[in-house]
Amino acid sequence: MENTTPMMRQYLEIKKQYPGTILFFRLGDFYEMFNEDAIIGSRELEITLTARQKDSPRPIPMCGVPHHAASNYIARLVKKGYRVAICDQAEVATKDIKLVKREVVRVITPGTAIDSQLIESKENIFLAAMCGSGESFGISYLDLSTGEFFATQISGNDAWQKTCSDIESFAPRELLFPKSLEQLVANTFNNSSSLTLSDASKFSTSLTSIDDWQFHLEDAMNLLKKQFNVLELTGFGLQNKNEAIRAASACLRYAQETQRATAEHIAEINYFEANDFMVLDAVTLRNLDITDSPSSHKRSLLNVVDSTVTGMGARLLKSWLLRPSIKRSEIQTRLSAVSELTDSILRDKIRYLLKEISDLERLVGRLNLGTCSPRDLLALNRSLSQTPNINSTLSDVKSLLLQVLSENIFDLPEIRSLIDNSIADEPPMNITDGGVIRQGFNVELDELRNVSNDAKKIIAVFEEQEKQRTGIATLKVKFNNVFGYFIEVSKGQTSRVPTDYERRQTLSNAERYTTPQLKEWEEKVLGAEEKIIEIEAELFKQIRAEVQKETRNLQSTARALATLDALCSLAETATKRNYVPPILHDGDEIEIKDGRHPIVEAFSTNTFIPNDLTMNNSTDRLLIITGPNMGGKSTNLRQVALIQILAQIGSFVPAKSAKLPILDRIWTRVGASDDLASGRSTFMVEMTETATILHNSTPRSLILLDEIGRGTSTFDGLSIAWAVAEYLHDSPEHSAKTLFATHYHELTELAETLVGAKNYQITATEKDGEVVFLHKLEKGKANKSYGIAVAQLAGLPNKTIARAKEVLEKLEKYELAVFATEKKGLDKVARKQIASQFSLFAISNENVVDEIRDMELDKISDSDAKSLLAEMQRKII
Ligand code: ATP
Repeated sequence: MENTTPMMRQYLEIKKQYPGTILFFRLGDFYEMFNEDAIIGSRELEITLTARQKDSPRPIPMCGVPHHAASNYIARLVKKGYRVAICDQAEVATKDIKLVKREVVRVITPGTAIDSQLIESKENIFLAAMCGSGESFGISYLDLSTGEFFATQISGNDAWQKTCSDIESFAPRELLFPKSLEQLVANTFNNSSSLTLSDASKFSTSLTSIDDWQFHLEDAMNLLKKQFNVLELTGFGLQNKNEAIRAASACLRYAQETQRATAEHIAEINYFEANDFMVLDAVTLRNLDITDSPSSHKRSLLNVVDSTVTGMGARLLKSWLLRPSIKRSEIQTRLSAVSELTDSILRDKIRYLLKEISDLERLVGRLNLGTCSPRDLLALNRSLSQTPNINSTLSDVKSLLLQVLSENIFDLPEIRSLIDNSIADEPPMNITDGGVIRQGFNVELDELRNVSNDAKKIIAVFEEQEKQRTGIATLKVKFNNVFGYFIEVSKGQTSRVPTDYERRQTLSNAERYTTPQLKEWEEKVLGAEEKIIEIEAELFKQIRAEVQKETRNLQSTARALATLDALCSLAETATKRNYVPPILHDGDEIEIKDGRHPIVEAFSTNTFIPNDLTMNNSTDRLLIITGPNMGGKSTNLRQVALIQILAQIGSFVPAKSAKLPILDRIWTRVGASDDLASGRSTFMVEMTETATILHNSTPRSLILLDEIGRGTSTFDGLSIAWAVAEYLHDSPEHSAKTLFATHYHELTELAETLVGAKNYQITATEKDGEVVFLHKLEKGKANKSYGIAVAQLAGLPNKTIARAKEVLEKLEKYELAVFATEKKGLDKVARKQIASQFSLFAISNENVVDEIRDMELDKISDSDAKSLLAEMQRKII
């Protein structure tokens, strides 16, 4: 340190204050990284690693990026999970200042990014914070770019598990937690510094531990009260929700500190409990392809229903799908609005106007975080200029929701005229480039511009005069940032230079001069230009502050427009895809006529075969669905859930008619998936998910069980599936409506003993030895799976198919024969004899096992043991 330069000392001092970040240190036109940061930066950004003080015994690793391209590089680092601190010059460098002041102006982290390179218009970017212990945890989620702020508190003996599940469904980009929970978080999230949540989220979540004091309750309350300008937090539903308060304040403090801004657009917080919405955990979201995921390749429910034309509308619609409503009145009001918007003239008009609207939510965010550009203000103005037209289009609407939306869309004429009058038509991106403020807005600015322009004109005239006076035709008046204005004369002509020329610089082929007159005009130009930038910056700040005062009205307008966009999108889908309004009721029946799977229907080239389905909580609460492979069991199961979800977001549904209850939760246990990273096998994952369902389902839930117990031996699996079905049917507190698709045809016997169970089958027929899928759901039970036929369709070699058929035939006979012996009460030996007629590997091996079991080991010598083993090896198939 003692050998370092003042500049490096300044660097190290600042770096110390921002641990865990990569410091971008502004030096002239570059942001430089040093030491460890430079090594990481050069590796991750693929830029050259150089060194400062190369000849010293300890050179300092260094690399840098041009300041005008910095945002791209920063985005790349942040996407990889790094946190970047931007350190700028805090004063203008002059001859008198040896070392300019520098300070960190922002820290960009995965969860607090607001730059366009780092956020997608249709995605919320959540920063999450979590705290608590034992049986109570608080979580909060903040989208800094829009100001949306949520908090929840989870209690009970499975609080931690539910907390993790809640975090997973929000898929935040960054999760803050107190250092004291480091061990718990590491154990749960597999020790990595970032976790890849469900593949429902395209990004992984960075894990950031922060000091425990940042979760101090009293400070937390004070911070939130100050932010929301209230004396009590009860108005936000936060009374006695200490963990939620602590988490929320950690989120807010982190956002403020990284942005170096008060973030006034975060004007309220929404406290929610998990059961305020229909619960769709991360597994269910994935199983049902609710939102885009890498595995669904855009074939998601969101993709089917999203015809929004604004980013904010798309984000809102997505949030409805992730958390469908359980309030019938809310759903009904949305349904009425969608119904009215199915009028294509009305809808097209609104959508046409909405297309001109920018992302107001994020604009307001930038406005309050101090990063709003002059072009942002123009975009805001253009958006606001559409609102009177939107309101007049909505003037005659009947739906209450549409009327309320219209009341909340403001056109803010004062703001519009302020921007109209003050901001130039085509302002630059940066205020320092000049030309932001419109001519005629400020007298002083106009005068200075005149001075500058006149001086520039005079300098141009001056060039001509000097050419005449000196007779040097090649003489030029030029400008650069270091020397300002100067006269350039090529080397061959310097003898003709008059005596009043003062030499400024010698180049290899030219000399540069100035004159007292040129200096005078130069001062006028440069002085005026400096002042112009200063005044423009000040005026822009004032205009921004004026607009900022309207934050609440702008947020209200943005939210109303987003809602309008989302509703129009649902109406568009309903019309385009021939959906009908669902009939919601307080009873428990699901009655779907000609239901269709929205995603399969939208993306498949084949005609979709519609199906009916009836369920209730009494006679038809457990439907056991059997049928061939590829018949459509999974499709049918999912389609019921998707129709129900669509209904509860206020959408029309793909059916001829649908009478539906309001459900509290949809559970799914579908297919096989490993979770090897956290040490859980396929079967373990399956059983853990099943256990969660059995413990937590309620009579208001819908459960989809697709192939339970397939991950273990047939009899183990069948027994588990049987017991699960009985449990769901018999326990009143968990007796949810259950759709159970299975290839265990034995399960169909349940319908004969359980009052609430019914058998359904998906039909298929055989034609010319080939299976034909009818995809029709009917009452009854299937007795064949057509697995081999499907394997043949999939292209298994003919020889394998033929052998499979042979084995199947034997197995079926064996099963029948053993079944018959059991009925006849024959003993083990007799059963084995019958079974040996169908001798397959299992039976042969069983004999060997019996032999081993019967061995008297202490009577067998070592050498005999070896030959016995060889004999057995021979017998094993
Ligand atoms: P498996 O038992 O092998 O898992 P499954 O019975 O669950 O099969 P699905 O996966 O639901 O069958 O469907 C198989 C294929 O049939 C899918 O490609 C799906 O698109 C199509 N399909 C399913 N139901 C219908 C339907 N009602 N109309 C048209 N196509 C359908």
